[in-house]
Amino acid sequence: MDRADVIILGGGLVGLALASALDSGGISAILVDPADPDQRVGAAFDGRTSAVSSSSMRMLRTIGVSDHLPEPGCPILRIAVADGLEPGGLQFEPGADDEPLGWMHENRHLRAALRARAETASNLWLLWRSRVASRERTEHGVVVGLEDGRKLNAPLLIAADGRHSPTREASAIRVARWRYNHTAIVSVLRHERPHENVAYEIFYPSGPFALLPMTDDDGGHRSAIVWSVRSDDAAGFLSLDDEDFAAEARAAMGGFLGEIALAAPRSTYPLGFHHAAQITAQRLALVGDSAHAVHPIAGQGLNLGFRDAAALAQVLVEGARLGLDMGDRQLLDRYQRWRSLDSLSVAVATDSLARIYGIRGRAASAVRRFGMGLINRIGPVRNQLMSEARGTSGQLPLLLRGLPI
Ligand SMILES: Cc1cc2nc3c(=O)[nH]c(=O)nc-3n(C[C@H](O)[C@H](O)[C@H](O)COP(=O)(O)OP(=O)(O)OC[C@H]3O[C@@H](n4cnc5c(N)ncnc54)[C@H](O)[C@@H]3O)c2cc1C
Repeated sequence: MDRADVIILGGGLVGLALASALDSGGISAILVDPADPDQRVGAAFDGRTSAVSSSSMRMLRTIGVSDHLPEPGCPILRIAVADGLEPGGLQFEPGADDEPLGWMHENRHLRAALRARAETASNLWLLWRSRVASRERTEHGVVVGLEDGRKLNAPLLIAADGRHSPTREASAIRVARWRYNHTAIVSVLRHERPHENVAYEIFYPSGPFALLPMTDDDGGHRSAIVWSVRSDDAAGFLSLDDEDFAAEARAAMGGFLGEIALAAPRSTYPLGFHHAAQITAQRLALVGDSAHAVHPIAGQGLNLGFRDAAALAQVLVEGARLGLDMGDRQLLDRYQRWRSLDSLSVAVATDSLARIYGIRGRAASAVRRFGMGLINRIGPVRNQLMSEARGTSGQLPLLLRGLPI
């Protein structure tokens, strides 16, 4: 198989979701990734747990990914935001429809389910362990050369190859980028008291501490942590033994979950921001982290990528029904317009959050708490923030509403 409607470079969470969304809409794809997926099944490769918004979950259900999830995930029924351990803060709860605000899923489970769904696809060719040697985009089409000499052809190339995206870098697309002086330490805590499905975001000037509910297992109650610390301090936190690290985490949380212990190894992620000025070029579209990466402060990066996948799949399926070339400029312009505002506003909001909570001092803390109190009292502002968290703001693609394309 050397020809399809699209070639997707990158089989991470977003590339695989897009491939399955296209397959459900009858669009054929060749997906290329140098990785060996069998090496990525365990928590040792990716020990993270992601907050998947309720709209992203609707897409995963509609395209048949959730049928393959090894467990249903842990619903988030409340989000509590606090300025350190000070009283007050923001509270978000489900609306009248009672749909959870999101679901916590272990990345290894998401990856396994996305791969299993992709392997059932009739219109998709998965080329794992395959390296790209050349990409040629012309007025007439795209040719991707692989290192083993194969040549792949399609009218459209899609870059889903992550934050360092070699495909984006090889194009003329400009990117705004900076590093935060933050490193995220990720792990799992076991705790004495139940989390009651609450996701906590506790802000400290040194970085936010997120405590995210997970399903109980045989050992009892569990929560994932994403603890952003100053990059200079990360090595010190890693050098602590498990008991001392758990004691530090308990102090950062204020101890409200009782006794805690570390239930998984710690891994670290240096944090940075980037945003591509354009997400399309001649016969090229970017999705997921190849297009943008944000601070994990609000758990939005993967959800943005899933929203890219839902919008691009809809644009292409509807274009195919009209008989358009998949690389048609009108289709790419529609995708660009559809995604630009959402991805930029999430990028600006998360960047501002990361900065505003980084300001030290009691006056800054008082202003933040006053702001949070105000938001709590003004219904429309709170509802807007909640719909951002659930991924339901703006003009939603069909898949994110739970409707097939
Ligand atoms: C600590 C942390 C916590 C996070 N928590 C959340 C959260 O709770 N909720 C949320 O929504 N987001 C979260 N995110 C963000 C989220 O993890 C990412 O946005 C998401 O994983 C990006 O997926 P992707 O498929 O775009 O990229 P990647 O997962 O990076 O996948 C890229 C793929 O491209 C492949 N590739 C690389 N080079 C090439 C090439 N030359 N050719 C072909 N393929 C190639 C790679 O092998 C890989 O499979 C978090 C991020 C961090 C760092």
